Amino acid sequence: MKKISLLGATGSIGTQTLDVIKQHHEQFSLVAMSVGRNLDLAIKQIKEFSPKIVSVLTKDDSDSLKLQIDSNIKVVYGEAGLIEVATFDKSDIVVNAVIGSVGLTPTLAAIEARKTVAIANKETLVTAGHIVTKQAKQYGVQLLPVDSEHSAIFQCLQGDQNDQVERLILTASGGSFRDRTRSQLEGVTVNEALNHPNWSMGAKITIDSATMMNKGLEVIEAHWLFQMSYEKIDVILHKESIIHSMVEFVDRGVIAQLGTPDMRVPIQYALTYPNRLELEGTDRLNLWEAGTLHFEQPDFNRYRCLQFAYDAGKVGGTMPTVLNAANEVAVDYFLQGKIPFLQIEAIIEQAMERHNGEQCPSLEVIKEVDVDSRHYVHSLLK
Ligand code: NDP
Ligand code: MG
Repeated sequence: MKKISLLGATGSIGTQTLDVIKQHHEQFSLVAMSVGRNLDLAIKQIKEFSPKIVSVLTKDDSDSLKLQIDSNIKVVYGEAGLIEVATFDKSDIVVNAVIGSVGLTPTLAAIEARKTVAIANKETLVTAGHIVTKQAKQYGVQLLPVDSEHSAIFQCLQGDQNDQVERLILTASGGSFRDRTRSQLEGVTVNEALNHPNWSMGAKITIDSATMMNKGLEVIEAHWLFQMSYEKIDVILHKESIIHSMVEFVDRGVIAQLGTPDMRVPIQYALTYPNRLELEGTDRLNLWEAGTLHFEQPDFNRYRCLQFAYDAGKVGGTMPTVLNAANEVAVDYFLQGKIPFLQIEAIIEQAMERHNGEQCPSLEVIKEVDVDSRHYVHSLLK
């Protein structure tokens, strides 16, 4: 029985992780979980999965939750609560499915507690990939990708050495506005941006897909997970989202991983690795029906956020932290209807231009830069 701590249980990845756990209740059990503000869903999940410890955002929420669930379940809150869930001594693996760089501290704590970490929370790797990967190596902890592209690459790489890899090719659906020109992006609404053609995901990542920042964050994520230079990471538009990503080897052989778009597949693979289990309720890939697969080179002027992410990644140090923090705040403003869509990229550009990067930053510096970049963006938008 594999015992799981799940950070972000009420989110899109979190609920799909619970679906996988439920399907295989003889192999997996949920022992600890964290949620944000969605206490109603949390209560249902707690009743169904009986974790031993639950973390919520605030003390008020924790007091209110305690009154509504079995008194044997420990309720904790805030950052300390996330850390308790991530390091819970009964768990074998931590699935990190929170949104944003709030996932960084619990990830580092899980690694120090020598837990395997299945990481969906890409912002953590973008913000402080050098620290997370170094610490994982130091503690002999495995970081298992959950993001579909990275899971695909991980599967393609099995048994092969990184020095035999020529390049990684990340596929991108193009997001909700892939058929629009730049000028057609002016005045787009939040609801239009949230209408992703292939994937049903949380709000922030759906907006990131529309700006193509999601792919940019994934380029940086791939750099850290697979220790690959940015020159060897390519992005290709592939609107069907059937090829989840590819690896080209030095002999020009290319291995791709395919399937219908369903996040439960990479989630489950991270949980069963190095084995596989059946997965009910996901569609089989039918290439006859798909008929044709399309590929296109991304236009970096059209998708400026993708360019910013490559730039930030290549500068390295604290620059990806700025990219991520500015993006998180800007997307939040857009989701609240306070700024137009195209202002997201303008804000990120301003935040990066203002920043003097520092190389090999410590965790303290990363946290300061994260906070400072958020303040800067708030001050710009006031
Ligand atoms: P959601 O917004 O759907 O869920 C986020 C989860 O984190 C929720 O449980 C939420 O709680 C919780 N949360 C939000 N803010 C905080 C906070 N400040 N402190 C603690 N917990 C918090 O996100 P997704 O599931 O879409 O994405 C999660 C991560 O996985 C992201 O990094 C994303 O990039 C990555 N990812 C997602 C994919 C997808 O298909 N959704 C695909 C690939 C990667 P609550 O809802 O209770 O407030
Ligand atoms: Mg992805």
